[in-house]
Amino acid sequence: MKKPIFFTPGPSQLYPTVEKHIKTAFEENIPSISHRSARFHEIFQSAIKRIRKLLGVPNSYAIFFLSSATEAMERIIQNTVEKKSFHFVNGSFSKKFYQIGIDLGKNSCAENLEMGEWCDIKNVRIIPDAELITFTQNETSTGVSIPIKDIESISVRHPKILIAVDIVSSVPYVNLPFEKLDCVFFSVQKGFGLPSGLGVLIVSPRAVEKANFLKNRGLSTGSYHSFDALYKQYQKYQTPETPNVLNIYLLEKITKDMLHKGIQNIRNETDEKAALLYDFIESRTDFSLFVNNSQIRSKTTIVISTPHGSQEIIQFAKNRGYILGSGYGEMKDRQIRIANFPAHNMKNLKKLLNIFNHL
Ligand SMILES: *Cc1c(COP(=O)(O)O)cnc(C)c1O
Repeated sequence: MKKPIFFTPGPSQLYPTVEKHIKTAFEENIPSISHRSARFHEIFQSAIKRIRKLLGVPNSYAIFFLSSATEAMERIIQNTVEKKSFHFVNGSFSKKFYQIGIDLGKNSCAENLEMGEWCDIKNVRIIPDAELITFTQNETSTGVSIPIKDIESISVRHPKILIAVDIVSSVPYVNLPFEKLDCVFFSVQKGFGLPSGLGVLIVSPRAVEKANFLKNRGLSTGSYHSFDALYKQYQKYQTPETPNVLNIYLLEKITKDMLHKGIQNIRNETDEKAALLYDFIESRTDFSLFVNNSQIRSKTTIVISTPHGSQEIIQFAKNRGYILGSGYGEMKDRQIRIANFPAHNMKNLKKLLNIFNHL
């Protein structure tokens, strides 16, 4: 049987070159090499260099490898917040970030927004003594994408507060002003089209300083994955623990492939595929778009309301070799989510839309 195409919003379709790179990795014995070896240093250093180049990360920012994006949320709270954090909550992933603050015993506040909506940023009041503000730039649960200019305006209004941005389902498409941000993170099983089990956390010098300040005051910033421990190893092209060496190797290869393709081409193709998909859904009477405001509709996670239920449609597509995402959580049976990542090509997207035409 033909291999199915995964349009699920994570884990998702593998980037087309992943299989080839895995084969090479085995030929090169990557799964057996020591994480203290020169070969690993080389892979680490090159992966960091390419992530920097692809996403436009300043040289002064450190890049850490973790196990997941969820871990990044916990590490960020532990290392940058003594007492108070402030979270924009507009879906399940942003809510998780807020909840981690609470679980770690912080005085975390949330600006709670309606699902599928965003706010007028000028009217949001941030508690003045917040130490960290968090944004989930692309809410994978609802398909809302926060405008970058809104994140920037908060940074300009509150220059002393650290800013964290979750870009798990918008990387590498999203184009961020890193100088205005402090902690930016993602995992690799969505936009990079890799197997799961690797998180990447990008931190500003200010965030590293804040972690040291907390640590020097005798507060706990964690243990082997405190910013301090990660930073010391990072400077030696290493990680505190034995990391996911195979996935770091693959990320190095995929960022190389993406750089070769060109980030602008990736962004343009993402825009073109999103436009096709959105126009198609808008032309249908049996579907509607969950996010009403077109300005905040995600280009990388398209959430479709299906008033007559989603499971039959998902099954129909599955029988034809296309795996779609259900709605998230409570919306499971009422929505379909379709990912639009670099691994998804126009040809397959058109075939998927043709399947919808035969419903
Ligand atoms: C999937 C996702 C996460 C969680 O990623 P893990 O790698 O499972 O920890 C966090 N934030 C967003 C926006 C996501 O889409």
